[in-house]
Amino acid sequence: MNAPLPAAVAAPFYQAQGDECRLFEAAWQQQLPVLIKGPTGCGKTRFVAHMAARLGLPLITVSCHDDLSAADLVGRHLIGDGQTVWCDGPLTRAVRQGGICYLDEVVEARKDTTVVLHPLTDDRRMLPIERTGELLEAPPSFMLVVSYNPGYQHVLKTLKPSTRQRFVAMSFDFPAPDVELAVLMQETGIAESQARQLVTLAGQLRRLTGYDLDESVSTRLLVYAAKLMMSGMSTQLACRTALAEPLSDESDTIAALLAVIDTQF
Ligand code: ADP
Repeated sequence: MNAPLPAAVAAPFYQAQGDECRLFEAAWQQQLPVLIKGPTGCGKTRFVAHMAARLGLPLITVSCHDDLSAADLVGRHLIGDGQTVWCDGPLTRAVRQGGICYLDEVVEARKDTTVVLHPLTDDRRMLPIERTGELLEAPPSFMLVVSYNPGYQHVLKTLKPSTRQRFVAMSFDFPAPDVELAVLMQETGIAESQARQLVTLAGQLRRLTGYDLDESVSTRLLVYAAKLMMSGMSTQLACRTALAEPLSDESDTIAALLAVIDTQF
């Protein structure tokens, strides 16, 4: 008797904001690397997960940080049982599997680390593994996707122009109100009237200027607020906890956010 086939993995829910799904698919077909810019919590990671599942590709995600070395991406020799064994890093695994390698917050990585991406992002599509002498050719299905939040950047945290110009780039922002409404309802099961209140409040909070806010209310935080409401928290408490406190430690700023929340509810 044949073993049952594994159930097909359903693509995680993603509410499109425009043409981004078609664009991503075209970039994948043409073997082009993609850079996604946008504020934290606006749906970049969900979009990549959705597209990987839709295209039937394995997805390997790396959250970049300033200690990330080229060896962390490519691989290293490990010693065990008196033997030295080569261990592929996530980038090498994605190349071998012909999947998507997604480097989240790529500007956090050191510039000498991002240079290992260069031969993979031009028409060579090669990954030289210096330590083993291997030269891996990326299969046609391999795709490199990187993202960052332009809002966080300061002079030292930008992509080198020589790296940046190797990607086609897509700009994301918080979704339009009708899209955000659909996201909240689908993600949390919240009633439309309550979701609408949250989206209206988000619009007001995002327009708040003159305070020391690095980031404004994200779709992720709205999802959190809706989830707290679905667990029986009052709207006001849910919004205070999910939409005001996470955004700042400055008492004046929190007070201003709370004032907007209190006038809405
Ligand atoms: P980012 O990677 O931009 O920081 P995420 O992709 O992790 O943000 O999005 C945060 C959360 O917001 C997701 O887990 C999801 O619940 C929700 N979300 C944001 N945008 C969308 C969207 N367009 N469709 C579905 N869910 C979304």
